[in-house]
Amino acid sequence: MLAGSCSGNYGFIVYCKLCGQSQDIQFEDLGEIACRCSHVKAKGSLVVSGPLWLGPLHETEHVKSMIELARQWGWIKALGERSRSDSPADMRILEQLLEVMVDESQPSLPSGYIEMHEVGKRGKLQTTPRRNDFIQLLQQEGFVASRSHVNANAVKTNCPMDKCIELARSMNASSQPRQVATSNGTAKESRG
Ligand SMILES: [Zn+2]
Repeated sequence: MLAGSCSGNYGFIVYCKLCGQSQDIQFEDLGEIACRCSHVKAKGSLVVSGPLWLGPLHETEHVKSMIELARQWGWIKALGERSRSDSPADMRILEQLLEVMVDESQPSLPSGYIEMHEVGKRGKLQTTPRRNDFIQLLQQEGFVASRSHVNANAVKTNCPMDKCIELARSMNASSQPRQVATSNGTAKESRG
């Protein structure tokens, strides 16, 4: 039973070099790989990686227990008493790592991540949005989004790459990225 439930968590990640979109696929779908961009050249631009683990990276409750233990042992600050800039560096690193692990344990997140510089490059943006501002905007737009413990400048999200670029452009259209984050769509309207 265990082997059966685990096998469903193994598969492949398909990355489209043309549009930057990644997708998780299972063994049985290997023969029908296509990208949502439907570009005529897309078939030759797909990179398949795997087989690899596509299941959840962490179990939320387990990581939360680790945070509680770390607090009890004084490895991180007590509840409501966040690490500050004068806290020991290893304490801040551990606290942040555990927080990111809780964030990215959301089961609706895809296996891969999107690097902010790729969004900036593909969108030909003058300024690549700051990761945390971008995550905030994605969540406001109804997408699941999280930091990644693997890459400090990447976002794990179920938002497609083309929509990520569109949202990043809307942030660029405003001189105050935080204003865009708190008022959806107004940046676009103010330009028209
Ligand atoms: Zn594509």
